[in-house]
Amino acid sequence: ELPELTEDDPMATGLGYKKDTATVDAAEQPKHTAEQKCATCALYTSKSATAGACAIFAGKQVRATGWCSAYAKKA
Ligand code: SF4
Repeated sequence: ELPELTEDDPMATGLGYKKDTATVDAAEQPKHTAEQKCATCALYTSKSATAGACAIFAGKQVRATGWCSAYAKKA
């Protein structure tokens, strides 16, 4: 199983990754909206109910509830 991406990982901080989309700072991330989360992102591949792989963060798992500034809504 892939290790979980931490918020303080240098890759994560660059894209403002948070484990919980509800904790994203609106002032820092003006494009963020409350309904955006990894589970509905085009770059996300679910591995379980709570976590999955992200095409950007190779070798790590992100939370289904997570978010980063590369979010792209799944078609
Ligand atoms: Fe989550 Fe999408 Fe960002 Fe990957 S690109 S961390 S799936 S919001």
